[in-house]
Amino acid sequence: MKPFPRAEISSSALKHNLARLRQLAPDSRVMAVVKANGYGHGLLNVAQCVADADGFGLARLEEALELRAGKVKAKLLLLEGFFRQEDLPLLIEHDIETVVHHESQLQMLESCTLSRPVTVWLKLDSGMHRLGVTPERFHELYQRLLACPNVAKPIHLMTHFACSDEPDNDFTARQIKVFNDLTRDLPGQRTLANSAGALYWPESQGDWIRTGIALYGVSPVCGDLGSNHGLIPAMELVSQLIAVRDHSAGEPVGYGAAWTAPKDTKLGVVAIGYGDGYPRNAPEGTPVLINGRRVPIVGRVSMDMLTVDLGLDATDKVGDSALLWGRDLPVEEVAQHIGTIAYELVTKLTPRVAVCLA
Ligand SMILES: *Cc1c(COP(=O)(O)O)cnc(C)c1O
Repeated sequence: MKPFPRAEISSSALKHNLARLRQLAPDSRVMAVVKANGYGHGLLNVAQCVADADGFGLARLEEALELRAGKVKAKLLLLEGFFRQEDLPLLIEHDIETVVHHESQLQMLESCTLSRPVTVWLKLDSGMHRLGVTPERFHELYQRLLACPNVAKPIHLMTHFACSDEPDNDFTARQIKVFNDLTRDLPGQRTLANSAGALYWPESQGDWIRTGIALYGVSPVCGDLGSNHGLIPAMELVSQLIAVRDHSAGEPVGYGAAWTAPKDTKLGVVAIGYGDGYPRNAPEGTPVLINGRRVPIVGRVSMDMLTVDLGLDATDKVGDSALLWGRDLPVEEVAQHIGTIAYELVTKLTPRVAVCLA
């Protein structure tokens, strides 16, 4: 018996997407970004499925240590760097590379003794203004890293895009120029592109693309689909009908009696709710796929259940499966209904959802 709700992760889709990204960025290496539990797909699942990625990008030291504990040997990079000086010996012990985006990290590197130098990616703030050293101070901090015996040479170079998911916004072109102008004569590898950069701004692909969402088969761009780029969604979020009820015109359903049936119909109750990470704010009309049809959510999403309008002639039965998102119902489409992005939907599933590798 398969558990439900469950997130079925397709190993072949992940492998396919990695191969597709290599095609799209033929001169770059691929850093598979697996932070946030592999975007909800399971950190070790993903790392094992795409073990031949050129490296993995993480947000937290704990995530990198989990990969090492799972015998992952590949290059690992902390995209936000280390947070505390005590982290540095762990980076050395487990062979983990780090971003340096702030002078405080440099000070920690300058004021400790390490058994070996650590590999550093200096992050330039080329316009996003979240992390990174300013263009004005870039060369000064670069020189200090060069002079620091705890830092391996060459120093690698990185930046991150604010608007690369807007293909018509030339902000990205300006960020690329700021980065290229400042780093042109420096040795070391370069990485600028996230998924949207890799897909929409080929001139940003550099030595490494850092792809998260595209690896999972999902487009980063609003109104676009991963399948438009030859990517295959890796996650199918599946549950099932636990009740089918006749429902009369004029009767409400669920908490707050928030929706009233305009005509006689049948309602289906699907076993998934906000306790599983399906958003409570999914509005009426958000689609669920049952027996090949898109049926609309009606009434409020509750903790463990949601209701859908199956229609008067429905023949769906208790036990039939319900797809919340997946190949035949793209998570991008569901996200648009809910007024969020696919990233948030896949990363917010709770531990009650079984993540199964298929
Ligand atoms: C999360 C992250 C990525 C991956 O972004 P996607 O849009 O999912 O490809 C790349 N670079 C950095 C610095 C990140 O934090």
